[in-house]
Amino acid sequence: MNCPKCNNELIQKFYKGLLEVDACPNCRGLWLDAQELDRLEDLAFDEDERKGSLIHFQQPTEFLCPHCASPLVEFQYRLYDLRLEYCAENAHGFWLDGGEEERVLALMQKRAKDMQRQTSAEAEWKQALKGIHSFLKDKRQKK
Ligand SMILES: [Zn+2]
Ligand SMILES: [Zn+2]
Repeated sequence: MNCPKCNNELIQKFYKGLLEVDACPNCRGLWLDAQELDRLEDLAFDEDERKGSLIHFQQPTEFLCPHCASPLVEFQYRLYDLRLEYCAENAHGFWLDGGEEERVLALMQKRAKDMQRQTSAEAEWKQALKGIHSFLKDKRQKK
């Protein structure tokens, strides 16, 4: 599989002890495969996460899905100022640009703090991944 942004070959790496991702050694972007996200299924899922729309402002991009080469669609996750791209055609997974990962964790850190509960940025991110995963799964089932 090649990077949708710079076409370098993606390499597999283990992401935060959560799941395997395909990482671009050149632009440091990450591809999170929907199938890999399936593994998060067993983890506790906060029902709050299901309320309201998770995905906003969808917009097609010029970049292509590394699996099926259909155009990736950019979306805003929840109401965070966080833009990610996903395979809209076949819901294969989603793309995180290099550096966005740190932004995600910073946002999640803030969220964990705002919610004043015993949680961590990693736990919040896990919840967010599950939110994106159920969105992708719904899309696949509708096909
Ligand atoms: Zn790249
Ligand atoms: Zn695809």
